[in-house]
Amino acid sequence: MQVAIDGPASAGKSTVAKIIANKLSFVYIDTGAMYRACTVIARDHDLDYGDEAGILNAIDKDGIELKSEDGEQKVYVAGKDVSKEIRTPEISANVSQVSALPKIREKMVSLQRQMAGKTNVIMDGRDIGTTVLPNAEVKIFLVASARSRAERRLLDFKQRGIKTNQTVDEIEQDIAQRDYKDSHRKVSPLKKADDAIEIDTTNMSIDQVVDAILAKIKEN
Ligand code: C5P
Repeated sequence: MQVAIDGPASAGKSTVAKIIANKLSFVYIDTGAMYRACTVIARDHDLDYGDEAGILNAIDKDGIELKSEDGEQKVYVAGKDVSKEIRTPEISANVSQVSALPKIREKMVSLQRQMAGKTNVIMDGRDIGTTVLPNAEVKIFLVASARSRAERRLLDFKQRGIKTNQTVDEIEQDIAQRDYKDSHRKVSPLKKADDAIEIDTTNMSIDQVVDAILAKIKEN
């Protein structure tokens, strides 16, 4: 079975996807982490975030690996654990530019499909239901107000031990900008698939969102 979870930044996709993957013993794939890793690679090689050929070349050299360690998904670039680094404001601010590059998307989508293979998988991102896994049995589109997403992101930083000087207003602005870029790019923009179920998580607890998605999975 394939479960696709899409939606704007910080709508709670990865939190609920991880819980569901653990409960059902599905493989969890965080595709945003892969585009973030591409952005770390661009920065580490001093490349312009729009340099498609240069970044592709550097990805081939360094390699991106997703590994499951103690129930956590870790991201490695050139053999180095970059799981924390990929969440810094600098990377968040530039990832939409890198992820809009068509050839980078082509490469990531192909990797994502390979990783999904034939196992039960739950994958979160922006274009999973529309492009990566168009035949997924369950497609969910998670949304929430920009304010509540900014508050969640701030909490997430604290829990991950990432220091930030940003206020909740600044985070809200960053999120809104990223959503705008992700929704307006030419290739596979952030968009609800026609057959996806939209869930507004603004006033829902994590458990309630998990239960709503589990109920949809059980219908299949
Ligand atoms: O999910 P997360 O917020 O970590 O994603 C970071 C960025 O990666 C998004 O803002 C978007 O630019 C890009 N992304 C994408 N397609 C996906 C997942 C993420 O373009 N499937």
